[in-house]
Amino acid sequence: MGGGITGAGIALDAASRGLSTVLVEKEDFAFGTSSRSTKLIHGGLRYLKQLEFGLVREVGSERAVVHRLAPHLVIPEKMLLPLYEKRGFGSILTSVGLKLYDWLAGVRPEDQRRMLTRRQTLRQEPMLLEHDVKGGAIYAEYRTDDARLTLEIVKTAWRHGAVPLSYCQADTLIYEGERLKGLNVTDRIGGQSFPVTAKAIVNASGPWVDELREKDNSRKGKRLHLTKGVHVVVARDRLPVTQAIYFNVDDGRMIFAIPRGITTYVGTTDTSYEGSKDDVRTTAEDVAYLLSAVNKTFNVRPLTSADVMSSWSGLRPLIHEDGKSASELSRKDEIFESESGLISIAGGKLTGYRKMAERVVDLVLERHFEDASFKKCHTSKIGLTAEPFASRKEVGRYVGQVARELMRLGGSVQIASYLIHTYGRATKDILEHIVEKQGTFDEMLTASELDFTVRNEMVLSATDFFIRRTGMLFFDIERMKHNATGVINDLEGRYSWDSRRTEDERNKISNSIKFASQF
Ligand code: FAD
Repeated sequence: MGGGITGAGIALDAASRGLSTVLVEKEDFAFGTSSRSTKLIHGGLRYLKQLEFGLVREVGSERAVVHRLAPHLVIPEKMLLPLYEKRGFGSILTSVGLKLYDWLAGVRPEDQRRMLTRRQTLRQEPMLLEHDVKGGAIYAEYRTDDARLTLEIVKTAWRHGAVPLSYCQADTLIYEGERLKGLNVTDRIGGQSFPVTAKAIVNASGPWVDELREKDNSRKGKRLHLTKGVHVVVARDRLPVTQAIYFNVDDGRMIFAIPRGITTYVGTTDTSYEGSKDDVRTTAEDVAYLLSAVNKTFNVRPLTSADVMSSWSGLRPLIHEDGKSASELSRKDEIFESESGLISIAGGKLTGYRKMAERVVDLVLERHFEDASFKKCHTSKIGLTAEPFASRKEVGRYVGQVARELMRLGGSVQIASYLIHTYGRATKDILEHIVEKQGTFDEMLTASELDFTVRNEMVLSATDFFIRRTGMLFFDIERMKHNATGVINDLEGRYSWDSRRTEDERNKISNSIKFASQF
């Protein structure tokens, strides 16, 4: 249960070991936290501060693995860490900390951290306000698109025989005596309900984990503590940072500013959250906090909320610890087993999804399939696309090749890069169909992307397309506004929507634009 990265990873692990697997997601895949993270495949430098060495070692080493499995989607990114006189750590502690980080994660010597003098730091990022910068460091991380990564894992699970169902909600649990035997699932589009029976049931519903534990009557002992994290997006030319940067804020927290396409995004906040899990909003206060951090750090014409083109807010499903504040809570994952046999997993990181899945499936086999023999976890060898790239270099060559083709049609290198980092080699399918479409180049491209994602990626609503398949709501909101009507009309025809459904879709699109950009 749960089609975020955790559930998707478990479905892939289980199916690839030979288990018959169904994945149910009540909305679209990656609807929850897995489309609203900082979009980094990172080792979690700040967890060293909390002495979480095991977590840093595991997720740190996973970075290179996930990069190898999807080099078009998990991209090496050098991170700049400026050091200040009056905030954050000193140079020696940072130097030792980053060395430890590299060592724990097994980073290759050529990618290991490099300490910078004050002058080198300011040359590296000329936009930094100079006054109390005393030096800096550069270290290796990876950036990704969380929703696309989740989706590629879902698709790979399907190629291994799993049955992924979106818009299908686990409603009630079915028992035989005291033992959990299945779920009643509601198809939220068709309206019917149907049972799914299984030997083992895993609850990987992220922020909703406790709701399902409650239905199982097993929400005892440890419970979730949800914290909200917000990111804001501004035009690249309003915050033209030369590279990703991780900087200190007055209150002791740290914030990322990450360039992506025509935008730069900044985040995150970290505040305890009690509201609706299905409708998490960015508030004026969240925006003010992030913009104030930027304005105190960079030499820019002060950013105001009018500069914020888009935003997103996600919930961290953390494990509650008495007396700890939102930022102090551990990011480590935990597995809970109930007397009925329900296995729930919560906490963790996007980056560690593969190891979390391995632990859960090992447990499933131990508890429910003792006598059968199944393969060992081998997801570290399963590429995350139908035709994976062998290396980053090969991705680069493919961008060049596609750019040449696109330029003949009116496109550009930037568009080629966007397409390949989004769809990988499947870009060729999109290119093949562009010429059949009508309108401007951008309208033809959008129609072809939609066509591809409907045929191959279970797009059932315009928001699936604009938010989780293309990221347009966040990183190219003007393109989304321009193409919204065309996309809704196209889907209306394909799925024979009645006028009520079409109206619902229009409202969903206008609300998603409003909530992302107005506070
Ligand atoms: P989710 O993605 O929330 O998935 C759970 C799914 O279950 C949802 O899609 C939901 O719709 C579904 N569901 C709920 N109830 C039911 C039901 N009854 N039936 C069927 N389906 C149901 N990690 C990193 O590694 N790198 C980062 O840069 C990073 N940045 C972050 C920044 C922020 C602001 C936040 C909040 C988190 C960040 N994380 C990061 C952590 C990471 O995003 C999460 O750990 C991860 O996405 C959680 O995935 P999940 O699958 O457990 O939960």
